[in-house]
Amino acid sequence: MSSKHYWMAGTVIAAAALFGNPAAAADKVCSLAIAGNDLMQFDKKEMAVAADCTEIQVTLTHTGKLPAAAMGHDWVLVKTEDLNPVANAGAAAGLANNYLQPGDKRVIAATKVIGGGQTTSVTFAASLLKKGQAYTFFCSFPGHNALMKGTFTFG
Ligand code: ZN
Repeated sequence: MSSKHYWMAGTVIAAAALFGNPAAAADKVCSLAIAGNDLMQFDKKEMAVAADCTEIQVTLTHTGKLPAAAMGHDWVLVKTEDLNPVANAGAAAGLANNYLQPGDKRVIAATKVIGGGQTTSVTFAASLLKKGQAYTFFCSFPGHNALMKGTFTFG
C-alpha cells in the first residue's frame, strides 16, 4: 500500500517536470533568428510569434564579410505606418547611433548595427505588441530597407 503511494507521488512529480507548472508557463520567451548578407538581403520576408509569448528574442547574424560601415545591418521593429519616418530620421543619426534617432519612441525593438561575421540580439516584451496591428521589421542602414524589410505578425 505505501509503496504504491510513493509510486503515485513520483509520477505526479515527473508529470510536473515534463509539462511545467502554471507559474512557469506564464513566462514564455519566444526566439526568432534572421540573417543578413553582403547582398543587402535578409533571409526572411516574414516573421511571426504566437500571442502567448511574453517575451520575444530576435537574434540577427550577419553572414557576410563586409564591415558595418560599408554593409551594416540591424533589425528594427516598428508599426508598418512608422517605417518611412523612422528610417528617414535614422539615416541622419549615423552609425554611432545605429542609424536610429536617439529616443525615437516609434521604435519598438532594435539591435545594434553589426558587420560581417557578427551576431547580435534584442529581447523585448510582447506587451509592446497588439494583435491585429501591422508591423514591419527592417534594416535602418541608409537605403537598405528598399530590400531589407518584411512583415512581423503577432498573434
Ligand atoms: Zn543593412
